[in-house]
Amino acid sequence: MIVVMKRGATPEEIQHMIRRVEEFGLKAHPIYGTERTVIAAIGEKRDEYRQSLESGPGVAEVVPILAPYKVASREVKPEPTVIRVGSLVVGNSHVGMIAGPCSVESEEQTLSTARAVKLAGATALRGGAFKPRTSPYSFQGLKEEGLRILAAARDETGLAVVTEVVADEDVELVARWADVLQIGARNMQNYRLLEAAGASGRPILLKRGPAATMDELLLAAEYILNAGNPNVMLCERGIRTFETHTRFTLPLASVPYLHERTHLPVIVDPSHGTGHANLVVPMACAAIAVGADGIIMEVHPNPETALSDGYQSLDFDQFGQAMTLLRKMADCMGRQITLNEEVPAPA
Ligand code: PEP
Ligand code: MN
Repeated sequence: MIVVMKRGATPEEIQHMIRRVEEFGLKAHPIYGTERTVIAAIGEKRDEYRQSLESGPGVAEVVPILAPYKVASREVKPEPTVIRVGSLVVGNSHVGMIAGPCSVESEEQTLSTARAVKLAGATALRGGAFKPRTSPYSFQGLKEEGLRILAAARDETGLAVVTEVVADEDVELVARWADVLQIGARNMQNYRLLEAAGASGRPILLKRGPAATMDELLLAAEYILNAGNPNVMLCERGIRTFETHTRFTLPLASVPYLHERTHLPVIVDPSHGTGHANLVVPMACAAIAVGADGIIMEVHPNPETALSDGYQSLDFDQFGQAMTLLRKMADCMGRQITLNEEVPAPA
């Protein structure tokens, strides 16, 4: 159920209704919008709860949430969620550009990439320290040393660090170093990991599983939101189909589809979504055209020698050219690729 407060409901009335919701054994998620405050009441719904809540002070109405996901739904929060963390801002008119290597391989490789993508206009740095690899014999990442290198790159460039966490027991360690925790496609339905990442307090970039439906993605996001963490970015990174000309099939209709159903920002990953460097920039352009709130892209100083995903990584020149094009595309759509610090704080 959603308890919709009247415009101008007082903080005391809102607190009172949060307590009332909790007295019924329901979990209360207050969402303070620009127009109105609503309290999502999650748990078993009973008619008598609804009637009782409806007569509370400052309450406009109590309505059921029809979608299977609750806190993620547009029904609960009509206005888009804007996530601001370090140099990164995504959502509403802000498009984030997260760029960097697939894996952190060395200090030199990561720092040179961070400098190059920053110069070209990236708004956050990506890089995997813990890598989920299909084969146990492939490079597994530098782990804690990789996190230290990413933090050094942030210190030098000011770029927020986005990096993957692959196991719930690593959440605390990764959250100590990173600005945004990435949950990879293979882990989208690792519910203990989602809960632990939700409890970390760090914003989360949640990638769609290659065989997950949109509802499953939104319900996975709901685990994080339900852990009390409102900052979830969804990421379309391609799904597995019969088609083999690309590594995955990148369905960009999921961007406007998700925007209709959720207030959460949607990021697109054209690197994993295509698996071919020459297809990355056209698909990134298309993603911005359909309303993506951000792009996450792999960039490497020398893709040919990359320890992972070199075939889908751009070199520095290609990334610079991509940024020129993507900025124009964002502009056409009435949106901007900006650093968080360039955006004034909300009134
Ligand atoms: C990655 O971002 O490097 C990665 C492993 O992505 P995905 O989980 O989408 O495969
Ligand atoms: Mn990769």
